[in-house]
Amino acid sequence: MKHFSTKIITWYNQNKRDLPWRNTKDAYLIWLSEIILQQTRVEQGMAYYLKFAEHFPTVKHLAQADNDKVMKLWQGLGYYSRARNLHTTAKTIYTIYKGKFPDSHEEILTLKGVGDYTAAAIASFAFNKPHAVVDGNVYRVLSRIFGIETPIDSSVGKKEFYKLANELIDIKNPGLHNQAIMEFGSMQCKPVNPDCSVCPLNTNCYAFAKKVVADLPIKEKKTKVRNRYFNYMVFRNKGTIAIHKRTAKDIWINLHDFPLIETTNELSEEQLIKSPEWKKMLGKTKYSIKSISTSYKHILSHQKIFARFIEIDCKESLKTFLPNDILIIKESEIQKYAVPRLVELYLERL
Ligand code: SF4
Repeated sequence: MKHFSTKIITWYNQNKRDLPWRNTKDAYLIWLSEIILQQTRVEQGMAYYLKFAEHFPTVKHLAQADNDKVMKLWQGLGYYSRARNLHTTAKTIYTIYKGKFPDSHEEILTLKGVGDYTAAAIASFAFNKPHAVVDGNVYRVLSRIFGIETPIDSSVGKKEFYKLANELIDIKNPGLHNQAIMEFGSMQCKPVNPDCSVCPLNTNCYAFAKKVVADLPIKEKKTKVRNRYFNYMVFRNKGTIAIHKRTAKDIWINLHDFPLIETTNELSEEQLIKSPEWKKMLGKTKYSIKSISTSYKHILSHQKIFARFIEIDCKESLKTFLPNDILIIKESEIQKYAVPRLVELYLERL
């Protein structure tokens, strides 16, 4: 289509939101915002961006920060591998690139946690390099306007959309073009019920003309979701509480939760208390069950977690029966530790 970029940029200049990371050319801050905004809504990501930019105004500040502090600041945002990669990459830029953010697309792409989309975003926003961004918004806009029915999650589809996006880019204003198309997808060509009557591209839009807006884009696979049942053992003794730093290759690495008995299906309280895992964890220690919470449901992209918190008062020191990888801390200090949102919700209700 002729003038695609001009139309999108004109729309953008009239309708864009004023977002702090759009007022900078600092690649570090742009990268920070892009990592925070992956799988996160702008409204939620904003507070985190401002917090990170304030605590770590430069890549050096982030590289030299304590990992627990980074994780604590990230708490509640989810997808915690982003925070770990953010910290690792800050160290890489500080040591290998002497604190100067690399400016070539190829080098940016080698950074941990940076994929095709983020590399193109940084290269174009910070350095005005002509690399098209292709995120969910861009897939939606292109599939609808150009009537592309190739599934966006197939390798053929990815190549097709990537090629088209790069053909459409305004090579004089790649950063502006990329911002514009993403904002257009986010604000105008929304996933559900976009207001096509006010859209400046409606005369050029295949989906609008053919009345297939709701059918595009097309996805091939449905994500399989696994159910997991977490029985959190909240052990207490004389003002102390037992917590556990998650280090295994699983969700929430480096965050803290409680000693856990995980099952593949839901057990009754009686079944749980009689289970070998319960007996193994408690051994011969003397305890009383103070309460068992109702189930908390927590949905992740590929997993549904059903958690309950079993509060157990112990007669003896927690160290005597819990394994060494369990931390015994003062309960009054639990707020210092980074925890997943699920545990945070439980703690808020205490
Ligand atoms: S006409 Fe509707 S479907 Fe087409 S680009 Fe505009 S908002 Fe999207």
